[in-house]
Amino acid sequence: VRIIVAGAGPAGAMAALELAREGADVVLAEKRAWPREKTCGDAISPLGIAEGRECGISIEGCVRLPQALIGVPSGRTFRGKWPQYTPWGTTIARNDFDALLVDAAIRAGATFHPETPVVRLRHEGDALVATVGDRRDSTRDIVVDAAIVADGASGGIASSMGFSKFRSRLVALRGYIDSAVPLDPEYGLFFDRMLAPGYGWIFPMNERRANVGILLDEATLARSRRDLRGLFATWFERSPLYRERFGGSVVSDVRGGIIPSGRRNRAIGRVFLAGDAAGVADPFTAEGIFQAMSSGKLAARSLAQSPDVETARRRYERELAVFDRNERVARAMRATFRFAIDPYARRAEKNAEFAGHLASEVFFLKRSFAGFVWGLTRAW
Ligand SMILES: Cc1cc2nc3c(=O)[nH]c(=O)nc-3n(C[C@H](O)[C@H](O)[C@H](O)COP(=O)(O)OP(=O)(O)OC[C@H]3O[C@@H](n4cnc5c(N)ncnc54)[C@H](O)[C@@H]3O)c2cc1C
Repeated sequence: VRIIVAGAGPAGAMAALELAREGADVVLAEKRAWPREKTCGDAISPLGIAEGRECGISIEGCVRLPQALIGVPSGRTFRGKWPQYTPWGTTIARNDFDALLVDAAIRAGATFHPETPVVRLRHEGDALVATVGDRRDSTRDIVVDAAIVADGASGGIASSMGFSKFRSRLVALRGYIDSAVPLDPEYGLFFDRMLAPGYGWIFPMNERRANVGILLDEATLARSRRDLRGLFATWFERSPLYRERFGGSVVSDVRGGIIPSGRRNRAIGRVFLAGDAAGVADPFTAEGIFQAMSSGKLAARSLAQSPDVETARRRYERELAVFDRNERVARAMRATFRFAIDPYARRAEKNAEFAGHLASEVFFLKRSFAGFVWGLTRAW
């Protein structure tokens, strides 16, 4: 079985790794020179660490962040430890993390081609033809049994193939900053009125350096009549949490990106979408690395373990239902967060166990809104 994977981010690398392990002939084609930078908050959650471990990828040497400091629009803050999965999350520069995954895929037997864009995919009868480019701007056609498209948030392959549009898009901006004081080993997430239901973040890369940024939905950004950089500067100046830690330090390497969520269909014919291309990122937290890894793995297993491509398609859509449920809850949380969070945060300020529960319920996979509320009520 010959399969082409377009894009070597976490979704594509995990897909290639799993396919190679299943014995498929897999070509991992990446548009850019490798390793490549990816604009990101660099945070790998406990879910992402667990997903990597399950596939034999370990990032044990990185900074350990066993808790989150969460600020809510009323100004309350609470700290919550993650009780599940792995007890800590981490941060790691994306070119390093993504290279780890690609190296694992190569070791498993995938053939990796950087600077090789997949220009087009087309069904021809029962076959799929992939047109790929090379460094000399020429192209060639390869006949494959299937393709996993993992070309990220701005990749355009799916849009030319009849896939549905994304239901929502978050916009985010990040930079790096050095701190005058040692940083606490925790994810800092600060929801305030200006950004809610989005947030500003401080994710320590080590004791003195942090990835900082802001995140909000496109509609909130449009209503603010500001550009993202202006909003970031204002947020940074007026947030005491940033001022305390970074004083007059300057944020460097400021870059933005989008995080799309919610596609109705993720497999057509012999083409399967994974990661941001499939819209599986969480539309509340914007976590997308774990979801990319997991969807890449699920797409690969569906293709490799099903007797035919139609069964593989059905299996894949069924397995992605976990992200659809999470998306629905995350959208409901987005709509109610501003008004509903304060009583929970008040409780969390006083009760460490509840704070951990709240942090986990908000940030990890959510199965239903009723279940989310019920879980919190029981922990109260
Ligand atoms: C500012 C910002 C901060 C974020 N912070 C976090 C965070 O802290 N934690 C988290 O979990 N998530 C975060 N996310 C989301 C996360 O970055 C994405 O969800 C994740 O990278 C998706 O992985 P992917 O493999 O689907 O796509 P990508 O990582 O984008 O990889 C896609 C790859 O496909 C390649 N490509 C594109 N077109 C083609 C083509 N035609 N042919 C071949 N290759 C192609 C690209 O060059 C790229 O290498 C953030 C996003 C942004 C924008």
